[in-house]
Amino acid sequence: MAKSKPITAWSFSRWATHSGENGCPLKAKLKFIDKLPEPSGPAMARGVLIHQLAEATLTAPKLAVPPELRAVKAVLTRLRKLKAQAELELCLTSAWAKTGWFDANAWLRIKVDAIAGRDKTHRTVEVIDWKTGKYRPESKEYSLQLELYGVGVLSAYPHVEEVHAALVFTDHDQQDAPPFKAAFTRADAPRLVKEWGARAKPMLADTRFAPRPGFYCRYCWFSKSKNGPCKF
Ligand code: SF4
Repeated sequence: MAKSKPITAWSFSRWATHSGENGCPLKAKLKFIDKLPEPSGPAMARGVLIHQLAEATLTAPKLAVPPELRAVKAVLTRLRKLKAQAELELCLTSAWAKTGWFDANAWLRIKVDAIAGRDKTHRTVEVIDWKTGKYRPESKEYSLQLELYGVGVLSAYPHVEEVHAALVFTDHDQQDAPPFKAAFTRADAPRLVKEWGARAKPMLADTRFAPRPGFYCRYCWFSKSKNGPCKF
């Protein structure tokens, strides 16, 4: 198999596509290196719409909460009281220092749907990720995504002592699909930096991008069944 150039900048989504539970290195190459387009389906379009509505709701506090976000109205109301910022783009170097989204040393990019300080000092912050679609609390990736938010925010903002991160499921009654939460303190940061460095290493060192076929091939736009370039 011919060598390819490696992935040099990553995000949780890139890591999950390459190395996650349903990840496939070849899919990551086709998507992020070769940049082959993937058609957007209704689920993706709905995800985009929900994120835009949530951002509009947080940036225009007098706007009524739209019906699409009825299930998470209480969360939005609380975030509005805390004057949360919507759609924060956080970028770190390989030394876990803050840098610009498009800077040459950009290494890890994290998009935060909403972030708010719990008090004026902003030493304790909340980070929210809106999730559309299925609720899958059994997925190990929920915890991993929260970890990356935690270590990303702690690394970028030295004054922050505690991060409370949550995945909030917009398409479900909050009784049936409660937010998936985790909290991280500054004492957790060194361990998380080390663990995430090790976790990302195989993806960043990969130049072969071998296919890892699985049940998920049937949903992959690069599969043979969808007339894609992959033989699986
Ligand atoms: S069809 Fe399967 S093996 Fe091929 S790129 Fe997609 S996920 Fe990977």
